Amino acid sequence: MMKIAVVTGSARGIGNAIAKALEKVGYVCVYSDLAPQIEDVEHYIKCDISSDDDRKVLVDAVYEKFGRVDMLVNNAGVAPETRLDILETTCESFQRLMRINLEGTFFMSQLFANRMIKQDFPHGKIINISSVSSYASSVMRGEYCISKAGVSMVTKLFAHRLAEYGIGVFEIQPGIILTDMTATVKEKYEKLIEEGLTPIQRFGTPGDVAECVLAIADGHLDFTTGQVLNADGGFHLRRF
Ligand code: NAD
Repeated sequence: MMKIAVVTGSARGIGNAIAKALEKVGYVCVYSDLAPQIEDVEHYIKCDISSDDDRKVLVDAVYEKFGRVDMLVNNAGVAPETRLDILETTCESFQRLMRINLEGTFFMSQLFANRMIKQDFPHGKIINISSVSSYASSVMRGEYCISKAGVSMVTKLFAHRLAEYGIGVFEIQPGIILTDMTATVKEKYEKLIEEGLTPIQRFGTPGDVAECVLAIADGHLDFTTGQVLNADGGFHLRRF
């Protein structure tokens, strides 16, 4: 049977690596992002995850074409356009982050979950890409941390609600991954990694996150739900 995956924010970076990795293990992958079209991809549907209309267009188009989804990866997300101390963060930036990172992930999960429940067995899996910022405080981008902490609760809520249907819900918390998102702070992070911020002393790659998705996609974690995978070079470890 054909296995269908949908990956949001898959034009580049982590999402793109995840989509390509899923294709390599046999999934038919629907790429989705903000641009009207992207190159060299067979199945692409434009979707701004912060738009209710776009989210509905995506889910309708995928189910009309394939009739099922085996894996939804809620990857699309943004950092603040300007890093500001929480004593100065603007309401505009706060709302932007909540709309994209949190509302987008929540309602995308809701829409797909309602279809997955009704599709033929198996009912699929959902993976949310949150961040170490779900739990680590960064006062220069507090709205990002809050949005990602919210995504962690989205994982728990949907894991709880969807367990009865056999839909596993997982979360990957990437650490410092080299992508366009981190390009502007590359030198700063390079120095922190050299100083020992992460036990594994290197930047993560989009492929490192994609490997975690494949571990879930392989079906070896089927008595597991709400599980968090730390794709972070050991950042989460408390150390003396
Ligand atoms: P990126 O900026 O390189 O890519 C993000 C992709 O999402 C882009 O293609 C962008 O067009 C798309 N996107 C942005 N807003 C969107 C929207 N409203 N609707 C649909 N698509 C949208 O970022 P990345 O580093 O690949 O990050 C991917 C995910 O991983 C994000 O959720 C991010 O928060 C998370 N993350 C990244 C890092 C890191 O170090 N790079 C660390 C932790 C978590």
